[in-house]
Amino acid sequence: MCAQQDSGRAATHRVLILGAGYAGMAAAVQLAGRVRRRGGVQVTVVNGRERFTERMRLHMTATGQGLAELSVPEMLEGTGARFERGWVTAVDAEARTVRIDDDRVLHYDTLVYALGGVADTSAVPGAEDHAYTLSGAQEAELLADRLARLGGGTVVVAGSGLTGVESAAEIAERHPELNVVLLGRAEPGAAMNPKARAYVQAALDRLGVRVRAGAEVVKVLPDAVELAGGESIAADTVVWTSGTRVSPLAAAAGLAVDERGRIVTDAALRSVSHPEVYAIGDAAAIRQGYGVMHGTCQGGMPTGVHAALSIDRVLKGKQPKPFRFGYYHTPVSLGRGDAVVQFTRPDDSPRRICLTGRLAVRYKETVTASPWPTYGRMKKMPASGAFWPRGGRFTRVREAR
Ligand SMILES: Cc1cc2nc3c(=O)[nH]c(=O)nc-3n(C[C@H](O)[C@H](O)[C@H](O)COP(=O)(O)OP(=O)(O)OC[C@H]3O[C@@H](n4cnc5c(N)ncnc54)[C@H](O)[C@@H]3O)c2cc1C
Repeated sequence: MCAQQDSGRAATHRVLILGAGYAGMAAAVQLAGRVRRRGGVQVTVVNGRERFTERMRLHMTATGQGLAELSVPEMLEGTGARFERGWVTAVDAEARTVRIDDDRVLHYDTLVYALGGVADTSAVPGAEDHAYTLSGAQEAELLADRLARLGGGTVVVAGSGLTGVESAAEIAERHPELNVVLLGRAEPGAAMNPKARAYVQAALDRLGVRVRAGAEVVKVLPDAVELAGGESIAADTVVWTSGTRVSPLAAAAGLAVDERGRIVTDAALRSVSHPEVYAIGDAAAIRQGYGVMHGTCQGGMPTGVHAALSIDRVLKGKQPKPFRFGYYHTPVSLGRGDAVVQFTRPDDSPRRICLTGRLAVRYKETVTASPWPTYGRMKKMPASGAFWPRGGRFTRVREAR
């Protein structure tokens, strides 16, 4: 039980951070590092499990590759932030409370909502019941178990976006006994420049992945997927990577959300309907000059740091500053021995330059491994986390907010 369960307002300002993923951890470490010596602020982090989920490596988990044991409570040690293990089951934005595992209630003065997103298995009938996903560590482990037991047959990866490409490549490399089919509306690497796109397609070909672009899955059956037009493709296992959805908790709490359920924020990352709530990472709809940000770790971590800076400023009686972020790369693994890195403009459109092969593998691994040491550095020196590309003219929001 937590001391915050006491009714009534405490003298201490209670900041509750929901979700210890890439964005939530950035917010927690950054904020705790800034308020630790000042006192008067209690930071509490709630997450479903103690182990940090390296979402960017879930395709590795899904193919049975062991990952480092990264402990959220251990990372928070010495920061003054508390850790509460539990599943958030409701948010009451009026009472400013959060229900954990249906039986605990935590109060907050400021809430940071960082619950991320999951694969959108509600998109077509049957996906929820019959498809595997990379929604979380547990789901990826279930898929690993399934693939290890198959011994042969066909795996259909539905969704030709980057998660689909990385998953299909990894499965084909780790399980040469399986036929891997990658299905999707767009060509793999569609958002990349022609050279990078061709590289992705050649790598998938080399790994034996059969690609079907222009295919729209309309139904998932226990042993097949059905395409628009009526064709059916036999599948021993279906992996659903097409689209993401967010938790319905924010909408149920009456927070203003967009059509995908993400919390709509102002320039400082506060909910437009409830300014004591900050939304970050994949769960937030954050507008930049180029449009609403899409879910990435490269953008998610800066949103966490910025929310922490905004909260710190507000607590000091200052105005928070507007958040600005410009993309700079799209690193994509193609199994363990190959990769491509597409460098981008701040609006995520592809530049001409890209890396391929071993250099790209090293780059991708450096990027994927970087969040944990970054939190470690921020713990000691919060200012070290406050650098990211602001995106210049690409991110300037012109219309009145
Ligand atoms: C296979 C794969 C590869 C990727 N590769 C890249 C890449 O190369 N570069 C990149 O920038 N992005 C990549 N991404 C996207 C990136 O992982 C996400 O954008 C990022 O994880 C978003 O961070 P987040 O903190 O918002 O959410 P998450 O990292 O998903 O964290 C959310 C946390 O909240 C917890 N949680 C959720 N609901 C509840 C609840 N009700 N109660 C308690 N806890 C809860 C979750 O368990 C999790 O710990 C990849 C994604 C996948 C699936």
